[in-house]
Amino acid sequence: MEPERPYERPYLSKEFLLGKVARDGLPLRPKVQYEQLAIDLELGRKVVDLGLEDRRVLLEDGGTIGWDILCLATGSDSRRLPGFEDALYLRDLEQAVLLKERIDEGGSLDILGAGFIGCEVAAAAAQKGCKVRVFEALAQPLVRVLGPELGAYLAGVHREHGVDMRLDATTSTADLVAVGSVPRTMDGPELDNGIVVDESGRTSIPGVFAAGDVTRFFHSLYQARIRVEHFQTSERQGFAVGRTMAGAPTAYTEVPWFWSDQYDLNIQYVGVALAWDSTVIRGDFGKPPFTVFYLAGGALIAATGINDHHTIARVRRVMEARKPVTTQQLEDPTFDLRRALA
Ligand SMILES: Cc1cc2nc3c(=O)[nH]c(=O)nc-3n(C[C@H](O)[C@H](O)[C@H](O)COP(=O)(O)OP(=O)(O)OC[C@H]3O[C@@H](n4cnc5c(N)ncnc54)[C@H](O)[C@@H]3O)c2cc1C
Repeated sequence: MEPERPYERPYLSKEFLLGKVARDGLPLRPKVQYEQLAIDLELGRKVVDLGLEDRRVLLEDGGTIGWDILCLATGSDSRRLPGFEDALYLRDLEQAVLLKERIDEGGSLDILGAGFIGCEVAAAAAQKGCKVRVFEALAQPLVRVLGPELGAYLAGVHREHGVDMRLDATTSTADLVAVGSVPRTMDGPELDNGIVVDESGRTSIPGVFAAGDVTRFFHSLYQARIRVEHFQTSERQGFAVGRTMAGAPTAYTEVPWFWSDQYDLNIQYVGVALAWDSTVIRGDFGKPPFTVFYLAGGALIAATGINDHHTIARVRRVMEARKPVTTQQLEDPTFDLRRALA
């Protein structure tokens, strides 16, 4: 649909705004690789109907393309708020270019929403010298994913960098609205806040698969269908779906992982933000590196590391191996979590 060669969206709210990665540094792969792999990129063309009956997708420009096996990897779109039609939303490069121009002009920037994208843009704009205000309806930034303690810590970090972080607050005007995203589904396969797929990306329709942000997939660790919107998960799950489509059934069983960069903090999260009932801290909370583990009924379901990628990499392996780990082992920084793999 977009006119661009597939590119790394995570840069759009961070390095691209900071001027550290330019437009030509965004593509996922060089053009020649698509040619070598005999992949036709139909750039700038939008599919409007899957053409399930005669197996031919219909394009917005009136064209059709036949298919034997189909994969829907349409991603997600920014959640739009009524009354904010003129605000910027950040999902694709076109919007990022406009936002970058706005930030480069300097002056003030009002952001509605303190999720990951809102917080990352606030950090980039503050570092570029803008006067930034963030309006968040909840009590802390990222509270639903990270919890109130870590949320309060991050609010403090933003304030230390001069961001006017307004919590339990809203606004009727904003330059950027960043209030979450919605799956870009299409009519045909079963939907439930995303396209419902199994561990290998099969939808309810034979021969039609789906991968990436748009899916709600079954995950064996959580014994539930989950929808995550992370770069690495969409890549790794996409790999499993691609293998399955090519005749080598492969289940995606890895534990979802993502990162966020804000100022000098690298935040890494492993797991899924399902409800937790207790947390355990490794390290000195508030003094990176440290990690917060989230448990439900004594079982580890997720962890957030602040400048603590070693702990996250290790606990991720423990979770993927489905190995038990005690709270004492989690909170003891001298306990090498790789020992839990034995
Ligand atoms: C600003 C921003 C920052 C992010 N930062 C991070 C981060 O730090 N860490 C992290 O883990 N994740 C991050 N993410 C999330 C990550 O980028 C996504 O998880 C990932 O891009 C999902 O890949 P995807 O292929 O499923 O979908 P997408 O990357 O959204 O790609 C879907 C593609 O399908 C096209 N399309 C949609 N509908 C149609 C149609 N009808 N016809 C034709 N084409 C269509 C779209 O134009 C798009 O190019 C970020 C996302 C954004 C927007």
